[in-house]
Amino acid sequence: MMEVQITCKGCGSSIDVLPDHLASKVECDICKHVQDVHFTVEQEQGILTECPVCTRMDFYKQKDFNRKIGVALFVIAAILSIWTYGISLVVLYLLDLFLFRRLSLVAICYKCSTNFRKVKNINDIPDFDHEMHDRIVYSDHDFKGKPLSH
Ligand SMILES: [Zn+2]
Ligand SMILES: [Zn+2]
Repeated sequence: MMEVQITCKGCGSSIDVLPDHLASKVECDICKHVQDVHFTVEQEQGILTECPVCTRMDFYKQKDFNRKIGVALFVIAAILSIWTYGISLVVLYLLDLFLFRRLSLVAICYKCSTNFRKVKNINDIPDFDHEMHDRIVYSDHDFKGKPLSH
């Protein structure tokens, strides 16, 4: 089943939920802030067309790895490269190639940054687009699920 990770509007922590079209509210465990959600039967089947939190239809996909771990690994490899004459950076590059490329993809809502895992139609969701991100986040533009064509 599709896994949804909502960012709490009250305190910014992540709330994990599974799509349920009978559910209309999600409560944050940390700050008890209650958020409206609109799940559809489609989402219960793992098909993502509309965001259950902000009802927008603009998403991007990216590799599902923990950015903090990625940065920490790079810093460690960079420090080690002083003694390993750069070999640790090569190892990290290979690790990225073989390990991270295999990781699953996550779909993310531009507007409210809700994360969606195990999305069946993930291949229909485009990669991150800077222009779309800026227009949605800074000028509140709604692309209605039609990505910019460059
Ligand atoms: Zn909260
Ligand atoms: Zn959203």
